[in-house]
Parts: sequence; structure tokens; C-alpha cells
Amino acid sequence: MSKVFFASARVKKWKYSDSMPGKLEGLLKQTDLKRYFEPKEWVAVKTHFGSEGAHRIVRPVFIRKVVDAVKAVGAKPFVTDTVRIKGLDYLEVANSNGINHLSVGAPVVLADGLYGNDNIMVKAGEILGEIAIASVIYDVPAMVVCSHVKGHIQAGYAGAIKNLAMGAVSGAHRHCGWKCGRGAMHTIGEGKLIWDESKCVLCLQCQEICPLEGINFKDDKFSYDDDLCWRCGRCTRVCPEEAVKMPGGDDEMFMKSLSEAAKAVLSTFKNRKVLYVNFLTEIQPECDCMPAAEVPVIQDIGILVSDDLVAIEKASVDLLLKEKPLPSSLAEDENIQNGDDILSSLHKKDYYIQITSAEALGLGSQEYELVLFQE
Ligand code: SF4
Ligand code: SF4
Repeated sequence: MSKVFFASARVKKWKYSDSMPGKLEGLLKQTDLKRYFEPKEWVAVKTHFGSEGAHRIVRPVFIRKVVDAVKAVGAKPFVTDTVRIKGLDYLEVANSNGINHLSVGAPVVLADGLYGNDNIMVKAGEILGEIAIASVIYDVPAMVVCSHVKGHIQAGYAGAIKNLAMGAVSGAHRHCGWKCGRGAMHTIGEGKLIWDESKCVLCLQCQEICPLEGINFKDDKFSYDDDLCWRCGRCTRVCPEEAVKMPGGDDEMFMKSLSEAAKAVLSTFKNRKVLYVNFLTEIQPECDCMPAAEVPVIQDIGILVSDDLVAIEKASVDLLLKEKPLPSSLAEDENIQNGDDILSSLHKKDYYIQITSAEALGLGSQEYELVLFQE
């Protein structure tokens, strides 16, 4: 049975070792990183840099603890993410959100290059066929996947599976474009954007959020650059009127494609070379790539560490299910009650499919032992 190490966010004693950074340090010692990483080996610390207005990412203080723990075994860590907006701008976002060499103690690099098209095609599965994995993640021999657990409009729940699937795959491939990148998960098939003029209130939020500046309104008519478009779906997410839509597969196909992509990413690593750290903190309703961070809908729970992707996701969900919705949050607006599945109620998604499909693909086991952190 897989072990999942857990440290609660609650502070019982007013001392460093009972703080969240202190407990993460202790959890990583308990996990014994020597079992995973070799001296001098390069280790990617994969996180999400957030966006200009989404500050509720995995905080740099925690990334620093992971970096220090990797260094303690003599390995060489670097902190990385794939390009979500233009590469140089994304490094600025990382910096303004507090992630830079000085703060995290290691180089901060873009996993798929300044233009987001340094990637390698890797066999995925029945839904995706092949997918473009960021070249840095493809080449690096070891990785710590640091995931901020939160809600997600399309996935319902976003944790380590999504961080691997969307986060280690590029927006597009140099030759086959979005169909081999993240867009292949967001929309299966041809997937051209559809604009409904009768619903559009010309708020221009879609234009503002497009990372590629690919949306135009001439004479109050929507148009987009179909060749450029990554099918990232941000324009559809921010549209208050559902006036712009991205056709694609159903929720089940989307979640299964996430697991397929995660499997493709993991296929580039040998066994026991990837460790997962899930942060159940600042659990906001939406993704860290949105232009703003909402207040959390669930109180901070703690930090989990495991080498089993499925086990850590199952343990995360099990802990989330025990929590009450926070007042003065979207959960209260939506009248979510104690005992409800908060993230599923918010997004009306059966996010559990991610976990069952990942298990069916052999990425881990839902059977786990929760090991409570003790000083
Ligand atoms: S899906 Fe929308 S926001 Fe994303 S790249 Fe295409 S046009 Fe821009
Ligand atoms: S976000 Fe929606 S309503 Fe606003 S301009 Fe774009 S399509 Fe129209």
C-alpha cells in the first residue's frame, strides 16, 4: 500500500517546527529523498508560476524548502513551468509572484523555451495519440511535482494529475500546433471557436485575457486567429454570457485525456524518480492561470507528500471531502452546505474520473496509508 505523508496546516505549538514551512521540511526528511535522487543529478521542481493577478500559487517559501531538501542529497534542483503567456512575460509573472533564483534558491527556467515550442512528441493514448512534452521535462531524469490543490472550471478538481498533464505539456507544437499541445485536452477534434453575436455584450474580457493577443473586435464583430490559437479556453472561461465557446469532448473525455497526458509525461522518467507534493492551501475555486485569485472556498488543510500519483490525489480528495465550505466565499454564494462535495458542487464536474482513469492507466493506487507527520 502506498504511503502518503501528511502534515496539518494547524499550528499547535508556537515554534518553527510546527509551522507550515517547518513541517514541510520535516515531511521531506521523513520521505528520505536519497531514495529518489542521486548526488549531482538534475531535479526539476515543477510548479505553476500563476498569473499577473493570481497570487494564490504554491508560495515561494515552500518551493525553497523543496529546493533545499533536494540540495541536501547533493542533487541539483531548478524550478520550472511551461509557457502560458509569452515566455519573457511569464518569467516576469514568476518574479512578481515571488519566484526567482534568489527567493527559491535555484535557477528558474521555462520548461519549453521562450516561445513555448521546445518540446518532444511522446506517445500518449487512445484519446490524444501523441502529445508535446516540454523538452526540459522530457530530458530531466528526476522531478518533484509541487501542486497547488484547488478547483477548476473544466476539471472540477485540480491537483497533481492536472499539474503533470497540462503543466508539463506545451501550448502548441512547432509543426502540429495546438492539436498536439494542451489544446488537445481542452478540445478534442477540430475545435474551432464559436461566437454567438446575439449573446455578446462586448465586454471585451475575452480579448483582454487571450495570451496570444489573438482576438479582435472590428465593427463589434469577434474574430480570432485560428492558426495562432492554442485552444487554451481562457476566452470561453471568462465570458460572462457564454457567447464564445470551444467545442470538444465531454467532461469524461477531458478528464481521461488528462490522465493520458500525465502518463505520457511519466513515461519519460524511470521508476521512483518522481515525487509529489500537494499543497492543500488557499483552496480557491479556479485555476492559478486565471487573471485573478478568488478567496478560498475551503480552509487550509495541509501538505501531502508521496511517490504515488494516484494515492496522493485520492488522499487530497478525501481530505477535501471532510471540510466545510468557507463563509463569504463563492461556496456561500452557491449555497453549498456542510457535507457537500464543495468542488464538485461548484463546477458540476465528476472530477473523480481523473483519479480512476489514472489508476486504470497504471499510474498508482487508490489504496494508501496516511502517515501523519510527527516531529
Ligand atoms: S482559446 Fe481563446 S484565449 Fe486561448 S489562445 Fe485561443 S483565442 Fe486566445
Ligand atoms: S467575453 Fe463574451 S460577452 Fe464579452 S466580448 Fe467576449 S464574447 Fe462578448
